[in-house]
Amino acid sequence: MSLNEDTASAASEVNPRYARQSVLDVVGARGQQRLAASTVVIVGCGALGSMQAELAARAGVGRFIIVDRDVLELHNLQRQLLFDEQDVRDRLPKAVAAARRLRQINSEIVTEERVADVTPANVVEFVSQADLVLDGTDNFETRFLLNDAAVQQGKPWVYGGVLGTDGTVMAVRPAAGPCLRCVFPTPPEAGDMPTCETQGVLNTAVAWVAGLQVTEALKILVGEPAEDSRFHALDVWGGSLNSVRIRRKDDCPCCGLKQFEFLDAKRGSSSTVFCGRNAVQVTPAEPTSPDYDALCARLTPLGTVTVNGLVLEFAVDSHRLIVFPDGRVLVMGTTKTAEARSLVAKYIGA
Ligand SMILES: [Zn+2]
Repeated sequence: MSLNEDTASAASEVNPRYARQSVLDVVGARGQQRLAASTVVIVGCGALGSMQAELAARAGVGRFIIVDRDVLELHNLQRQLLFDEQDVRDRLPKAVAAARRLRQINSEIVTEERVADVTPANVVEFVSQADLVLDGTDNFETRFLLNDAAVQQGKPWVYGGVLGTDGTVMAVRPAAGPCLRCVFPTPPEAGDMPTCETQGVLNTAVAWVAGLQVTEALKILVGEPAEDSRFHALDVWGGSLNSVRIRRKDDCPCCGLKQFEFLDAKRGSSSTVFCGRNAVQVTPAEPTSPDYDALCARLTPLGTVTVNGLVLEFAVDSHRLIVFPDGRVLVMGTTKTAEARSLVAKYIGA
């Protein structure tokens, strides 16, 4: 087949939905087809993740796996563009609400939702299915875990963080460049970093970071970019973007020495304080399948129970306990792990 015939053949297969994108030189018909054949895993579907999901779905990425551990709350709507007030009223898990909305936006793609916490025990299961992973998390613990899994599996991923009016982005291509630990050798100590809750976050900063992350993702998916890896730091309020070339470190524990310390770590404590959320997550040692009917019968005399088929919510005094299908319980109204575990033991029986 000559070049002209090849081009004509590819052009004839262009989906008109993507005409304004596939006509771009940097995408082309071939690039559009590569997107349709790609699987993207989005880890965390809050501010960054929900915007990444919408942009990538509209761009024609063929398959998504959306992983998120949380349920929607009203204060999410300021910056989490996929969701609306009905999703909040329904107390939907973010992964479920996101997948439902993506199906409305683009019925030609496949979207799978996983209401789960990403841990050393399951991260490889998610990453191994991906052509690329998008970082929609809000914590470095999970990012270092993702970095380990992605480098071990040889999968590209795009880091992104946002706080206040600032953001950072870096694409990690294990086959061709540095990883997150080449930039940050160790994660910051818990509590050292300001959070969106204490410092706030501008939704336009989220939009810029997510837009840059998805752009980096599209570049990788339509064809391996030849350019060097860069770490981008932006300030949307000040209108600045600084990009620094990053080189792989030979002695990087992850990509240099192949020591996957975060992936190999045993599970940490079974309770996690949700940063600035006035909430603690209590995770059982082994995943369980809570019997919602039995819980509902037992808890109804003690407080207000709501079951929406996906999660069970129990409100008692000033606390709300949200029970997930994998046995995790999110205790709202406290930042004390001991109190949270006591409430779970008292009412749920973990
Ligand atoms: Zn590295």
